[in-house]
Amino acid sequence: MTDAMFRVLVVEDDAGLRLLLRTLLEAEGFRVSLAETAARAQVEVRANRPDAALVDLGLPDRDGVALIRDLRRFTRLPIVVLSARTQEIEKIAALDAGADDYVTKPFSAGELLARVRAALRRASPPTPGEGEVLVGPLHVDVARRTARTADGPVHLTPLEFRVLECLLRDRGRVVTQERLLREVWGPDQADTRGLRVYVKSLRDKIEGDPARPRLLLTEPGVGYRLAEGE
Ligand code: CA
Repeated sequence: MTDAMFRVLVVEDDAGLRLLLRTLLEAEGFRVSLAETAARAQVEVRANRPDAALVDLGLPDRDGVALIRDLRRFTRLPIVVLSARTQEIEKIAALDAGADDYVTKPFSAGELLARVRAALRRASPPTPGEGEVLVGPLHVDVARRTARTADGPVHLTPLEFRVLECLLRDRGRVVTQERLLREVWGPDQADTRGLRVYVKSLRDKIEGDPARPRLLLTEPGVGYRLAEGE
């Protein structure tokens, strides 16, 4: 899923900032809708179901915190608060009311976009596309020979991919070292040390903490197993 599919609602009464935010978000491929009041924001959320909202706390018709509380009655959409430094107490109140995160004005473009992307990621972990297999946080597209985690694409060498593919075919079951060697490198291969090198580099790429693997598990003295996953 690319960011281009995400729609972000910007709730901000300052016209200059509203347009700046729109420009920033659109440049990143988001589709943007705008609201300058809390009332308009409610309408937008109900009518257009954005994927995330950026909400200024100081709105002309209502307090941004009250708006967030109202939105939380019917939607779980990720909400990132835009707050001025003077609104420290309101910022906490906004988080209590159900906001996901906040950005303090003045903010940098990079920080704002990172917060929006993180909020979107938490709200909607990517669903596997057609032909994709999900192993915990790892998505494997066997046909395209690509893999990715929540952090983005994982670049696997052809041999690493074949090791992964072989484990994937018997997911949840132990695959012996001998079988992995035979299927990936061909008959008469006995280089288990070489196999361990590939397993290690695979883990470095797909595991959150390679020292404590949760996806590619070792069955001591026998072989390896790919976790069943959720
Ligand atoms: Ca304002």
